[in-house]
Amino acid sequence: MSKIQMCAARRLAALSAVILMLPATGVAQSPLLAEMLEDYWQQRVDYDISCVLDTENRALSGEQTILYRNNSPDTLRRFYLHLYPNAYRDKDSELYRDFHPGNRFFLLGLPRENRGWIEIDTLAVGGAPIEYSIDGTILESTFPAPLPPGGEAEIRIEFSLKIRRRIGRAGYLGRHYDMAQWYPKMAVYDKHGWHPDQFRSGEFYGEFGTYRVSITLPEEYVVVATGVPVEGDPGWSRRPPGGSGEGPPRAHGSEGAATAGRAAQEAAPGPPRTVTFRAENVHDFAWSANPDFVVEEATSGDTRVLSVYRSWNTAWADSVLARTLRTLAWLGEQVGPYRWPQLAIVDSPTHGGMEYPMLVMNGSPDEALIVHEVAHQWFYGMLANNERAEAWLDEGPAQYFMFRSKLKENRSLVRYIIIAPAVKAMIMDKSIPEIMASALLELI
Ligand SMILES: [Zn+2]
Repeated sequence: MSKIQMCAARRLAALSAVILMLPATGVAQSPLLAEMLEDYWQQRVDYDISCVLDTENRALSGEQTILYRNNSPDTLRRFYLHLYPNAYRDKDSELYRDFHPGNRFFLLGLPRENRGWIEIDTLAVGGAPIEYSIDGTILESTFPAPLPPGGEAEIRIEFSLKIRRRIGRAGYLGRHYDMAQWYPKMAVYDKHGWHPDQFRSGEFYGEFGTYRVSITLPEEYVVVATGVPVEGDPGWSRRPPGGSGEGPPRAHGSEGAATAGRAAQEAAPGPPRTVTFRAENVHDFAWSANPDFVVEEATSGDTRVLSVYRSWNTAWADSVLARTLRTLAWLGEQVGPYRWPQLAIVDSPTHGGMEYPMLVMNGSPDEALIVHEVAHQWFYGMLANNERAEAWLDEGPAQYFMFRSKLKENRSLVRYIIIAPAVKAMIMDKSIPEIMASALLELI
């Protein structure tokens, strides 16, 4: 989607879900849209990140340059960065309490292996180190000189990340790495001002820009990311030797998985190699890596579609790629063209799924989940609404299209709306064995 279209879309998202649902051609002719665009602006934030994954120490070090362009009519004196990993720094994670009030972690705190954080080693603007303060997941600092309308600032950051054992939306499990909300990210400045929201419940809000991200990791890892690979080999054509160190679903989240993970971790990592990805007009960047990934791919129009799964997870073989191609074509007809050159659906050790631009991490090969998460590529991905303030603007359409896809298959919505969520709730509570729940879900 061109920049002007994305600008228009975000403004629409903030105003009305009804307008959101209009066909793009109708919106383009709208006098209302022309009026809305008259004084519309949004900032531009480009990222250049180089990072090194240290699998032995579950750590990552990074150097990042942010080119920040002030397109607002305001002179900016201060700025804010999100340090999302710090939500898992302390045993009393507020984020975790938000999501799981009353569970055992509420009383005991996060287990040590589930803790992670980010350290800022240096912060400089225009080459000069600057002072800053950190409060939880927000860094606050001041531009050395006020940044006028149309001004640009180059913000350079060196950072270190302690990667947590997978909890929430990211982390490691054995030799599997899901890297989301992992780098210092500029807070949004819009007509309401800065949005330095602490990372608690709720999702995200980001500025569009170009990301160039170089990831150095052990040779044996296959890596997939927001963005297309422009240098180095991501390993997509390899056939893995097997053994991610994570184990099959039965062991997911169990001591068995942890033991297997430790055993695999003892294998010395191979020599490092670097893969560089580039993504234009995105507002976030996520990636996953695992030596055991199998990559299946096809094209849908101009889009390269990838299904990336752990080799033992044979339920994904062929099925997820076919379902994603079907979904992408159908949503393209229903909503409008998919504007990015690539889409990856990644098999992730999680329940449910999570969307990032050009990349989805899914905990199952379920087609409804694929429809929901791929719909997010439009509703949040390309439209970039403020999910913290108005999550319904993207969750609503994502669910709507998921139900529409079910209707299209002549499947019972009652069963799907009532029974499936109940079964999924039982899975979350672990009140029925996962294998029984999977069988039930297959019947629905
Ligand atoms: Zn959703």
